[in-house]
Amino acid sequence: MQIPFRRLGSQPLEFELKRDNALFSGDLILKKGNLAQLNGTITGSISIPCDICAEIIEKPLNEEISFYLSDGIFEGNDEELDIVEIEKSMIDMDELFRSEIELIKSDYFCCPNCEGKSLDAEF
Ligand SMILES: [Zn+2]
Repeated sequence: MQIPFRRLGSQPLEFELKRDNALFSGDLILKKGNLAQLNGTITGSISIPCDICAEIIEKPLNEEISFYLSDGIFEGNDEELDIVEIEKSMIDMDELFRSEIELIKSDYFCCPNCEGKSLDAEF
């Protein structure tokens, strides 16, 4: 799913993407000039290996996602903003979704069987 940046306006543009068992939905709204805001949630679940026993578990998701999108290089000085710069004025929603999932997968995760055990106890 690709959304041209110029389609964004002051009315929220809703989106919904599915990837395996995960669902990414929310909206995009133009804030000013070449800056837009994405607000959404990731729900459903992902298959992820337990960091302790490596068993693949379906991890339920309920993640609030919020960041800004800049059409091209962002030249403001709002350094506290979480900004993703997009290329060619096209917002690649699949790529954004994929990177959010990667971020979730990179977090520490342990399955219900291993909860309460520490990594040290395993070795
Ligand atoms: Zn485990």
